[in-house]
Amino acid sequence: MASRVIPVEAFDLVVFGGTGDLARRKILPALFKRYCAGQMPGPSRLIGAARSELTTEGYREVVRQALREFGNTDGGPALEGFLGQIDYVTIDARGGTGWQELSALLDINDHVRAFYFSVGPGLFKDLAERLQGHRMVDANSRIVVEKPFGRDLESAKALNRVLCGFFDEGQIYRIDHYLGKETVQNLMAVRFGNMLFEPLWNAQYIDHIQITVAETVGVGGRGAYYERAGAMRDMMQNHLMQLLCLIAMEPPAKFEPDAVRDEKLKVIRALDPVEPHHIVRGQYTQADGVQGFRDDVDNPRSKTESFIALRCHLSNWRWAGTPFYLRTGKRLKGRDSQITVVFKDAPHSIFGPDTGRHNNELTIQLQPNEGITLDVTIKEPGQGGMRLIDVPLDMSFAEALGPDADAPDAYERLIMDVIRGNQTLFMRDDEVEAAWAWTDPIIQGWEARGDVPKPYDAFTSGPDTAQQLMRRDGREWRGIDS
Ligand code: NAP
Repeated sequence: MASRVIPVEAFDLVVFGGTGDLARRKILPALFKRYCAGQMPGPSRLIGAARSELTTEGYREVVRQALREFGNTDGGPALEGFLGQIDYVTIDARGGTGWQELSALLDINDHVRAFYFSVGPGLFKDLAERLQGHRMVDANSRIVVEKPFGRDLESAKALNRVLCGFFDEGQIYRIDHYLGKETVQNLMAVRFGNMLFEPLWNAQYIDHIQITVAETVGVGGRGAYYERAGAMRDMMQNHLMQLLCLIAMEPPAKFEPDAVRDEKLKVIRALDPVEPHHIVRGQYTQADGVQGFRDDVDNPRSKTESFIALRCHLSNWRWAGTPFYLRTGKRLKGRDSQITVVFKDAPHSIFGPDTGRHNNELTIQLQPNEGITLDVTIKEPGQGGMRLIDVPLDMSFAEALGPDADAPDAYERLIMDVIRGNQTLFMRDDEVEAAWAWTDPIIQGWEARGDVPKPYDAFTSGPDTAQQLMRRDGREWRGIDS
């Protein structure tokens, strides 16, 4: 069953920072795929904008290379048509260069206009001021911003004030690309489209929930940024928090932007403060030919964490008593992101004590292979009495939907949602602020205590203390697959 392509109106997408890493790695390949799927109709344009002095032809060459390097394609027969819809403007966010030219380019039609701020947040205000000053923003315009959205509550509020000073909240699309993943949306479909799970989706039946986002990569070329951010700000406050929201939220009345975001906000606001002994921070050390974190960030005394695990609780009727364990880190033994919902044991084993402990687990695998597995307990086949084993009921979407089930990647989906004006999968200002309001005291706590992250060998599961965080509760993390 091929995925259905919903037509979109012609649009203009201006990518500020069109020569940068994010544009080349994600935005350009995503747009090319949507072009090939017929979602960039004829008069639509992609306009790259950055300070580099490039001709339109020169920028098209940048695009061609980006597709080769990050889109894994030479573009094939579709490439020339795609490039033909691309323009470039040399522009300075902080100066006067290029703005008249961009305005003239946009003035020739009344398409939906999306302005992707693929630049550092320090330039948001400059871009917003100049877009307004040159009257490029109308009611049908949208802006897209990326993480990091602030580094604490105060800076996030300041950014929101800046953006909301120029645009309506309904025009601001704050991307968390985890929300664009197929399986993350399937999580909502599984929860709210089936009768099977929702009645059991609460503290009465669920022992605990664990969320892992593990990466094998180190901080790469982003050492300076990461040294200031750490895993808590870079991953936990946004990606893991969003996953937690979707797992824990009440059913919204409708699958509509504010209905969904209202429910997510309630989850964040229900989070209790986290006890210091429920937090484990780690820092990778050198191994297997890679250098350690402190060398990567060029600070021999760095106290920034490349790994964090914590246990948190939601104070509401549905979840009182069910712990949520979250962990994320770099240089771990596998690239493996998953959510596991661990159901409670059956209240009484009719098969006697020798059959061991068995419980159901629902695992939502986000990467590398998206899919959902439900572990159920069955009789081990064969002679020898009643022995029980757990086997997975594998709901691999690729298998269920056939070889043509070609799910768009997160950026493809999210960019098309921007064009259609659908904010369901984007974070609202109050959500972002609530997430920081929960995160700030955690960070302030370890800063005040002078905590130093625990070292862990690169390509392992993180510090031993993270295992103990679970073990002392009689639980285990699911393995990180390499
Ligand atoms: P980058 O590689 O440094 O690119 C920055 C872009 O901004 C370049 O195109 C640069 O081009 C342009 N630029 C810089 N100053 C400018 C100015 N004064 N006027 C106009 N253009 C200017 O950064 P990036 O990695 O693409 O990241 C962009 C944003 O996305 C950042 O906020 C980052 O945190 C966020 N983000 C990135 C990723 C990723 O995978 N890279 C992932 C998530 C979030 P010129 O030098 O030619 O002007």
